[in-house]
Amino acid sequence: MRSNPNIVVTGTPGVGKTTHCEALAERTGLRHVSVNQVVKDRGCHEEWDEEYLSWIVDEDKLLDALEEEVKAGGCIIDWHACDLFPERWIDLVVVLRVDSSTLYDRLSARKYPEAKLQENLDSEIMEVLLQEARESYAEEIVVELTSNTTDEMESNVDRIEAWVKQWKENTRPEGGKDGDGNGTGEA
Ligand code: ADP
Ligand code: MG
Repeated sequence: MRSNPNIVVTGTPGVGKTTHCEALAERTGLRHVSVNQVVKDRGCHEEWDEEYLSWIVDEDKLLDALEEEVKAGGCIIDWHACDLFPERWIDLVVVLRVDSSTLYDRLSARKYPEAKLQENLDSEIMEVLLQEARESYAEEIVVELTSNTTDEMESNVDRIEAWVKQWKENTRPEGGKDGDGNGTGEA
């Protein structure tokens, strides 16, 4: 059993995954696992896609590279997909969402090529990542949160931090034997 939860933070590129994960790692002490970085550092890819200016990911290699770390628990997984991990490894899936105009501005600022920008906008409008999350994980562990503004981000981080605290309370060793030691023996 994990003593720290694993959280997937997912959504279309530009929704704010990395920003949320960094803030959450600082607040909770859990580890920010940037899957993009793992793909690059551990060579979990096939060829470079010239049109989309990104690597074509080798999912088997990627899962091998991450398996040990994720199984140990305490990961905040930052990736624009979520169906890679078996359901039993994951405790919470956060799907970040933004308005089209906000996403357009953020992706333009990144100088995304037109085809890639359009595909990502379509993907956000069609709720592709939300669907994927709902198909891959139990309904009760998937939450959809909006990330249009800094205020929304702060409130999301507060909520997720509170969830982590609650998760830890709920998964403390049986009956809190090593707990408060007040000897009341309450169940
Ligand atoms: P992702 O990791 O999902 O691609 P990032 O975290 O890199 O997205 O965020 C993309 C851009 O949008 C960054 O410039 C970031 O500062 C900004 N951003 C992200 N989330 C918010 C938010 N909730 N409010 C305002 N700006 C945001
Ligand atoms: Mg990112």
